[in-house]
Amino acid sequence: MLAGELALAGVDIAVIERRPNQELAGSRALGISSRTIEVLDQRGIADRFLSAGKIAQITGFAVTRLDISDFPTRHNYGLALRQKRIERILAEWVKELNVPILYGREITGFAQHDDRVEIALADGEPLRAEYLVGCDGGRSLVRKTAGIDFPGWDPTTSSILAEVEMTETPPYGVHRSPAGVYAFGREEYEMKGTEIIYQDVGPIGVMVTEPTPNSTSEPTLRDLRELLVAVCGTDYGVHNVTWISRFTDMTRQAAQYRKGRVLLAGDAAHVHSPIGGQGLSAGVQDAVNLGWKLAQVIKGTSPDDLLDTYHAERHPVGARILKNTMAQVALHREDDRTVAARDIVGDLLKMEEPRKYIAGMMSGLDIRYDLGDGHPLLGRRMPDLDILTASGQRRVFSFLHSARPLLLNFGLRLDVDISPWFDRVQYVDAKYDGRWELPVIGDVAAPAAVLVRPDGYVAWVSDGTSDRLMTALTTWFGAPAKRPD
Ligand SMILES: Cc1cc2nc3c(=O)[nH]c(=O)nc-3n(C[C@H](O)[C@H](O)[C@H](O)COP(=O)(O)OP(=O)(O)OC[C@H]3O[C@@H](n4cnc5c(N)ncnc54)[C@H](O)[C@@H]3O)c2cc1C
Repeated sequence: MLAGELALAGVDIAVIERRPNQELAGSRALGISSRTIEVLDQRGIADRFLSAGKIAQITGFAVTRLDISDFPTRHNYGLALRQKRIERILAEWVKELNVPILYGREITGFAQHDDRVEIALADGEPLRAEYLVGCDGGRSLVRKTAGIDFPGWDPTTSSILAEVEMTETPPYGVHRSPAGVYAFGREEYEMKGTEIIYQDVGPIGVMVTEPTPNSTSEPTLRDLRELLVAVCGTDYGVHNVTWISRFTDMTRQAAQYRKGRVLLAGDAAHVHSPIGGQGLSAGVQDAVNLGWKLAQVIKGTSPDDLLDTYHAERHPVGARILKNTMAQVALHREDDRTVAARDIVGDLLKMEEPRKYIAGMMSGLDIRYDLGDGHPLLGRRMPDLDILTASGQRRVFSFLHSARPLLLNFGLRLDVDISPWFDRVQYVDAKYDGRWELPVIGDVAAPAAVLVRPDGYVAWVSDGTSDRLMTALTTWFGAPAKRPD
């Protein structure tokens, strides 16, 4: 995602990937959140994902499904789509943007200098870059080499995840027993209402929680077999493991998302339990927050400290995800007191306000970056309204496909000269007579003008005047261009 963002901004980049090719063995994430679908829609690529996956009310908290169909967004649902397919679609997009992806190349270290990063690869060939972004997962070598702390909490649970064949048909779906949680599924399935009907093709995906957390050794078929017998009473004739892995609820977050010319995004910056399915979505949104800022700094349109806003904005979002996953892990325990607490949380989530509050958080639709006080839109996602412009009826998101900032004027009489930003910022006169409704918040007053950043967050809202517009333009998109003498 970051490669795509930087490529759209015309930055010269390369992706270094130690895997031999695009194909991801097995799969971890099973879907993406509503806000993630929106950010893909902002780039005009959401349809590629929507047509490959299944739209469903997959937002949830602990064991409770949360219906977000009443949320004011075009994508008032989540998308069930396996990580390997998500990655494949992203890689195709990045290829169309002519980004080289250097497969089979492994970073072994780097040295930071005032003006560059010298990167060492396993094959001995040196690489030089102005910036290095570690999107290299929870065990990030980039994070470790940069000396960035990764404080947090050790695991309290672990689970084996595998793709296998079985001689007997297992009970598909998720099951809870005093011995642990276990689940079986297949890649090919159909939704009948909320029921999932699995097709009899491809490997069976299996997940089983271990009785005591194990985060050290690599799991084997024997471990899986013994675990299945202990938890389910049978191993269903498990054989032919094509992929096996272990995940835990280790919960840690990088103390800094940036150290000089090195930045972190995705699991390299935050790891937590997969409960609630937020990790991949958070990584995609990290990338969308960082991409345009990094591009502007590289091109010299913005000073280097714009990059500090990446940590300032995304670290709190990551910290909140860590917190909600720890709460969900606690609610997943099977002792009587936890079951009682879970029942009460489940009852609360049937009520309107708690459902909206938690669903807003789990879907990512309620994210607000702290850009100061003011109109409720400030720091929040710009809604994808149908607006009337000189080029006809348009969706707001259609202006964000190129990842360029957007000043939408709904009738404000501008009394400042903003033309020095016209090389960077799109200016659009628009009409919109409908409601301005935000998820969780509800209706807000119609603004006279809004400045939207390339990541879709609102950087300035007119209070009926042009006050602070020049400051906002300079803060986010650099100093005004000099006029030729
Ligand atoms: C069981 C499970 C279910 C999940 N379900 C969901 C879900 O439904 N929704 C969701 O949003 N998230 C989910 N997640 C989380 C999601 O899988 C991760 O958050 C996501 O994979 C993180 O992506 P990433 O690109 O940051 O890191 P990774 O996926 O770990 O990718 C890192 C990449 O860097 C490469 N790399 C590493 N080191 C080097 C090096 N030194 N040199 C070159 N390349 C290197 C690796 O080969 C890898 O391709 C789930 C996770 C698990 C375990």
